Amino acid sequence: MNQDRHCTGQRFALVLTTLAVCLPQLGAQEPQPADQLRAPRYNFTDQPAYEVVRVDTGNKLVVKIGNVPTRIRLIGTYVPSQGPNSDAAREFASRLLVGECVYVKYEADWPLRDRDGNRWVYAFRAPDGLFVNLELVRQGYARISAIERFEHQSLFRAYEEVARKSRKGVWAPVDRAAVASTQPAAQADRAAKPTTDDDPQQDREVVVYVTEHGRKYHCANCQYVRTGGVKITLAAARAKGHTPCKKCKPPCK
Ligand SMILES: [Zn+2]
Repeated sequence: MNQDRHCTGQRFALVLTTLAVCLPQLGAQEPQPADQLRAPRYNFTDQPAYEVVRVDTGNKLVVKIGNVPTRIRLIGTYVPSQGPNSDAAREFASRLLVGECVYVKYEADWPLRDRDGNRWVYAFRAPDGLFVNLELVRQGYARISAIERFEHQSLFRAYEEVARKSRKGVWAPVDRAAVASTQPAAQADRAAKPTTDDDPQQDREVVVYVTEHGRKYHCANCQYVRTGGVKITLAAARAKGHTPCKKCKPPCK
């Protein structure tokens, strides 16, 4: 019961949320109808707040309701169950919520729980009222997902669009050179030659030469490419699995 007391001790009327404070700035960058981006504000005075016990994935948490650990799932959000985007969402949600309490609201026409037994909720951090579901979407840690229409759908859609245009989180462009450099062949190559080529940006600027059938990449003046080498970036050569020529030893001076 101590935990509950800790949470219910934080019964404050909602003040302006941090989201609201950010709105003018956001509007300046990305013109949006103000109404479209207006997050709901509820008065949670006299409602219980529940302690967040842990964050399982970015959109699934365990909270203590009536001292019973209860799994909840955030309405309208999709976070993959594993992978880098999943890890990022979990870390973000943990920073927002671990050691905090949340108020919850339910979607009127939805079932109480999903098929795995998680309660469908909208969660609002106590005492500042941060709309957690929306914050995940707004910061690009979650995409919109819903089993059916939900009350705040158009609001979520508007914020998802802003996140997508700002290339936040899951909307960031994939760095293909960096992805290629994590492949085993490129790693072995890198380990053997830990000189100037640890910087993916540099790999994209350095030019090497490959031949039609060869598996090596070369310097411009190498004897193997004098009769028809193809110019290519070092990053692209690595991505295709080419390894450095032992004769000319690229990257080249
Ligand atoms: Zn060569």
